[in-house]
Amino acid sequence: MICDVCKSREAVVYQPHTGRRLCKECFIEDIRQRVKKEAEKQGLLKASKILLAVSGGKDSLTLADTLASFIDPKRLVAFNIVEGISGYNRKEQAEKLRKYLDDLGIELISTSFKDSVGYTLDEMVSSARAKGLNISACTFCGGFRRKLINDAGRQVKADLVATGHNLDDEAQTVIVNILRGDVKRLVRLGDVPLKLSDKFVLRVKPLRKIYEWETTMYAFLKGFEFQEVECPYISARPTLRAKVRELLYLIEQQKPGSLLRIVEEFDKISELVRQHSPKEELPTCKICGEPTSYGREICKNCELMIQSGLLPQ
Ligand code: SF4
Ligand code: ZN
Ligand code: ZN
Repeated sequence: MICDVCKSREAVVYQPHTGRRLCKECFIEDIRQRVKKEAEKQGLLKASKILLAVSGGKDSLTLADTLASFIDPKRLVAFNIVEGISGYNRKEQAEKLRKYLDDLGIELISTSFKDSVGYTLDEMVSSARAKGLNISACTFCGGFRRKLINDAGRQVKADLVATGHNLDDEAQTVIVNILRGDVKRLVRLGDVPLKLSDKFVLRVKPLRKIYEWETTMYAFLKGFEFQEVECPYISARPTLRAKVRELLYLIEQQKPGSLLRIVEEFDKISELVRQHSPKEELPTCKICGEPTSYGREICKNCELMIQSGLLPQ
């Protein structure tokens, strides 16, 4: 089978949402161009420094590689967090990540939950359990990762923080927030980043229009050996998101391109809603001084630590 784009090389990938068969080179170029288009909208091309949140998984490697193809790697700094999950945070994987980033000319800085927060994720989870609380590991993990990424962004004076969230993640987030009726969080999505506090480095998702299978294929075709071990806490992921994920896969299978349409149409709605809603600055946490959600005096992270007995009340 010949590639539908260059009409010369052998096709190796079928892209259901476009109905095209692509060779390795044309597939890589297609992904880079789509990431560039999204990056332009999100202001990455004009930023002088961008922090990349990387885990060593396929999405973060695809993020680093695609961005480095059209942004000077000296303007990129990668940031890795070791959560402290036994059997998951492996040394060899961290070394591979460092090597790939070195090859791309991207500096890597890292930290761990233990060094920055004082506890590993495993310790947080067991403390909460000992108190009889049913707080999922992902709740701790997501909140503290967000905080550490923001801290690192401020530290390196980044204009933007880029994460490796892909189209599947983004479509799930849109639907989950609709089902929860969380309009304020919904409006924050959208393709143009929204600054809600001076303490937040703007977060962007350059891969938000790239399917998860495409980031996997990109990393595979580039020869990256990525972290394939699943986090042992994955089964504790919030159930609503897991159900939405399953449902969206079924829909995408029957009607390829559906996820892309959900996110693209949502971007248009979000733009309209933003025009009509006043921009409110986020309140600040009374304990740590970081921005917190509307209506809260103490941020979720501090609240979790107090509940788990890891922070005095
Ligand atoms: Fe963190 Fe949950 Fe992801 Fe594991 S599955 S890395 S605990 S967010
Ligand atoms: Zn081709
Ligand atoms: Zn706080």
